[in-house]
Amino acid sequence: RRQQGKPIAREWNHYLSSESMSRTGSTLKSAFKHLKNPSVISLGGGLPLSDYFPFESLSLTISSPEKPNPKNSDSNGANSPLHASKCDISQGRSIYDLSVALNYSQGSGSAQFLRWITEHTEIVHDPPYADWQCTMTVGNTSALDMALRMFTQPGDCVLSDEYTFATAMETAKPMGVKFEGVKMDKEGMRPDSLCQILEGWDRNVHGGSRKPFLLYAIPTGQNPTGATQSLERRRDIYRIAQEHDLIILEDDPYYFLQMNPFSAAETRDSTRLGPQTPAELLKVLVPSYLSIDTDGRVVRMDSFSKVVSPGIRLGWLTAPQQVIEQYKNHTDVSTQGPGGLSQLALFKLLDEHWGHAGYLEWLTHIRNEYTDRRDFMIRACERYLPSVITSWEPAQAGMFQWLAVDWTKHPDANIKSALQIEEEIWLKAISNGALVACGSWFSATGDSTCNEVFYRTTFAAASLDQIEEAVMRFGEALKTCFHLLD
Ligand code: PMP
Ligand code: PLP
Repeated sequence: RRQQGKPIAREWNHYLSSESMSRTGSTLKSAFKHLKNPSVISLGGGLPLSDYFPFESLSLTISSPEKPNPKNSDSNGANSPLHASKCDISQGRSIYDLSVALNYSQGSGSAQFLRWITEHTEIVHDPPYADWQCTMTVGNTSALDMALRMFTQPGDCVLSDEYTFATAMETAKPMGVKFEGVKMDKEGMRPDSLCQILEGWDRNVHGGSRKPFLLYAIPTGQNPTGATQSLERRRDIYRIAQEHDLIILEDDPYYFLQMNPFSAAETRDSTRLGPQTPAELLKVLVPSYLSIDTDGRVVRMDSFSKVVSPGIRLGWLTAPQQVIEQYKNHTDVSTQGPGGLSQLALFKLLDEHWGHAGYLEWLTHIRNEYTDRRDFMIRACERYLPSVITSWEPAQAGMFQWLAVDWTKHPDANIKSALQIEEEIWLKAISNGALVACGSWFSATGDSTCNEVFYRTTFAAASLDQIEEAVMRFGEALKTCFHLLD
């Protein structure tokens, strides 16, 4: 790894929670290290023999992206199935097999697949400090849960966008941790609002909460607004994080779903317009917080959920070694890392089949698909949503299109609240057969303070025909509620 000349990450003891400080690691797992000596016979750990696993072999057939570049495709480009058995390692066919994948391992995940993940992170983000590490997670939901336990005490406040991922707030709430929303614009979180909150923090008006030191950021294809921070915006926010000694929790599952600009043309031209090769893809992606993190203050969460499949339940954390150690100590006594079948399936696909370049080609294919879907949805919005009350900025990344509704033009705006009007439209849309998500569900400060009406829609979850039909039904609901029937 290219670590020479890079600084060492800062030290974070002052922010670790008492829960995390008291984690000493798993005694049993740490005894595993003696098994590196092949002459040692283990009667120490309760690892069952693989003879007693009822799975003998596994076969996976991989679908081809439009431009397949599998390492092991035949000359016609057809994908042969990927095989794994219990004796691939002993027979020299692979460095990872079912007998290892199906047994206990370290909480950081299998060394074989962790190496691929670390290489991928270096290729894409190349963190600018020396002692960064990766460890596997069971997805970003769990990674955030565990990170919050590592850093927060009851009564703490986490800074986030003013509209943010509802699950993140629901993760924090039972820990006694609240979110404080930072104002947003087209690029997401606004640096001036972040500064203002930090500089003006007064415990007494925030229920006794100490000054926040955690910033929860979804910098790319933000959920729910679809906003994507430019590099300049990221630099500005990083500078504020340095001034106020913040840790940035970078929840970035949509990083590779950065799309081409919206095109009104009906033809599917994203493949022609967008990046064609891994090198071109890496060039168009906005650099992550991790890639500008000279201090080691970013805890980055990556997930395969949106680019391979959610049910695989596998992601990874990249952070300074100290943070990774604390995380691993927690993993060893909770999830014990992602399931072996998931790790093996991804290792076969990513390491042995696609390789790094083939995976980046897959990601190029996926972001082109989402570009076409986003363009299709925007064209449907232009056709079916009443423009006098509805507005939007085409999402630049991710899976969500955020729609603003001018509720002040509602016939009952003088007697009803924004929240009541939001619900009326939402219920009408459901009765028309279209389900969308209400903006207020994502409000960091709680829905009671919402004085705006937004809806989150997705272009990921339905066929194009169904997207068109649903947008039309939603448009009808808006027209009915606002008495705009033509
Ligand atoms: N509880 C007990 C009593 C055990 O013996 C073990 C396995 N050593 C576990 C829990 C761990 O179980 P799992 O692999 O399902 O996390
Ligand atoms: N974080 C954000 C911002 C998301 O939008 C989602 C998915 O909805 C998740 C995390 C969940 O990710 P995972 O499936 O990796 O737990």
